[in-house]
Amino acid sequence: MLQIGDLRVHLLNEHLIKVDPGGAFGLVPRALWSPLMPPDEDHLVPMCATCLLVQTAGRNILVDTGYGSKITDKQKANMRLQRPQGVLSESLARIGLSPADIHLVIDTHLHGDHAGGNTHYGKDGQTIIPAFPNAEYVVQRREYGDAMHPNERTRATYFPINYQPLVESGQMRLLDGDTELLSGVYGVVTRGHTPGHMSVRLESAGQHLLFVCDMASYAIHFERLGWMTGYDVEPLETLESKRRWQKWALETEATLVFPHDPQRPIGRYVLGEDGKGKVEPIAETWV
Ligand SMILES: [Zn+2]
Repeated sequence: MLQIGDLRVHLLNEHLIKVDPGGAFGLVPRALWSPLMPPDEDHLVPMCATCLLVQTAGRNILVDTGYGSKITDKQKANMRLQRPQGVLSESLARIGLSPADIHLVIDTHLHGDHAGGNTHYGKDGQTIIPAFPNAEYVVQRREYGDAMHPNERTRATYFPINYQPLVESGQMRLLDGDTELLSGVYGVVTRGHTPGHMSVRLESAGQHLLFVCDMASYAIHFERLGWMTGYDVEPLETLESKRRWQKWALETEATLVFPHDPQRPIGRYVLGEDGKGKVEPIAETWV
């Protein structure tokens, strides 16, 4: 567990998959990324999904929900999906919580690997029900609009069953820009991966944390402004978002969480002796 001022923060691991490096590293040449993240025998690289559980003033806040239980066996096989820490409810149980104890779910964006666990099938195997029955869910209005009107490039990751029923029932609130969600818990728009992409900033008693999310999927993407994933729909916006938040991270000495990085899921951005910025890992692991 991490303590950020009055806020308690736990890292939860929702899944571990293998992806094509063309997705993870986009235009970056193989000769540059492969020594850092060696591909396996099928030429794939690992990608995990770290979610956050934040506790403050008796409230339990979940940031992102992973793929959840609605993906098919075929999808799981294609992605080589594993759950080394079990499903999200098992991780929650290890810190003494059940899904009914979650008060707020923050969706950074609505891609399937971040918002799939928002809902699951009811007992009849068909009805879609909220996975966190007592929670308010939040997402940026812009993201919801894009997710409801995907194009040929984006539709493979936007599935309305993950969010449309929640908006229609009033359980999901749509945000318009940067928003303080609870004392010390802020949703901040970090455009690039998607136009409505949101990171989550925590601040308490002079301490700072940023759930960077897909502004920098791996720590290396945060270190190198020109390295972007192939998934970003506005890569040059990602670059400028990173430039801004790199500066902030140096000034605040913030703890940074990179949700898809299995090697350095959490760290701090510091200047090395050569004057170059780098992410120094923090010794903290998934519950
Ligand atoms: Zn992602």
